[in-house]
Amino acid sequence: MYEEDKKAIIKAALEIKEYGLIQMSGGNVSVRKPNGDIIVTPSGMPYEPMQPEDVLVLNKAGEVIEGTLRPSVDTIALVYIYDHLSEVNAIIHTHQPYATAAGLIDDKLPACCTTLCNVTLGEVSVAPYSNPASLNMGIQTVEYLNGKRAVILKHHGVVTVGGTLKEALYAAVYMEDAAKCYLTAKAAGEVAMMTDDEVFQAVEVFKDYGQKH
Ligand SMILES: [Zn+2]
Repeated sequence: MYEEDKKAIIKAALEIKEYGLIQMSGGNVSVRKPNGDIIVTPSGMPYEPMQPEDVLVLNKAGEVIEGTLRPSVDTIALVYIYDHLSEVNAIIHTHQPYATAAGLIDDKLPACCTTLCNVTLGEVSVAPYSNPASLNMGIQTVEYLNGKRAVILKHHGVVTVGGTLKEALYAAVYMEDAAKCYLTAKAAGEVAMMTDDEVFQAVEVFKDYGQKH
């Protein structure tokens, strides 16, 4: 069941690894179907050999309804996020180093680059520390998303969300690029921020980005 979704999840997981957003078998990728079913990567399995049958299908409550492996250890947090944010249909969790580093020096990754605003819809908040694989990780994510598509989990990593898997993937990849730019600038001097109007324009222009299907 959900063969195409499972293939898309594995492809996205390989991409976040290729971009250096995770190492080894870290992080997870999941999508939520209109009927509430959640499709999620397994716990602690490298992504390269992963096959569609390794990807788990869970019901709305997070119980496995297809698959033999253990689902991601963060499943309890993922279920909470899906349960509380009806507009979210995809979640990516990474340990991307630059965005995580930005969360160690401030309580937000500020709106400093158009690429960040394009994909996260503005500055990204840093949620206080929560244990990985805990319900609190989900609660903190929901509380600190603030209508954006990303949150930095202090001392841990990043959660990005989207109405589609592509939105969550773009948020993770471009946010890392922007965080790298921000930290480089900060190391050299005072960082210039975008105005609210510039942020608004950056969000708007990206809504029409890419090819029409
Ligand atoms: Zn993690």
